[in-house]
Amino acid sequence: MAAGDEYQVKQSCFCCGASFAFGMNAYHGRHISRYRITVCDTCYMANWDGWAPHLEQKIVAHAQAKGIELPHRNSKGWLPRD
Ligand SMILES: [Zn+2]
Repeated sequence: MAAGDEYQVKQSCFCCGASFAFGMNAYHGRHISRYRITVCDTCYMANWDGWAPHLEQKIVAHAQAKGIELPHRNSKGWLPRD
């Protein structure tokens, strides 16, 4: 284990479930305030043009559970990333 690992703050990705550093001095993900979710950089980058259909179900269910209003869909018919 590298020095300092024990102090690292971890988060798990809303989309893929991977755990990543998020806090102290390393941020390998993004918090998306519109949906109140935190995702890893990989998922964030991969969905730049909107949330892919297989993730959309998860996001819609989450938004409904939290009472979050969903944004208008983009030109591809997908929910905007952020
Ligand atoms: Zn992810």
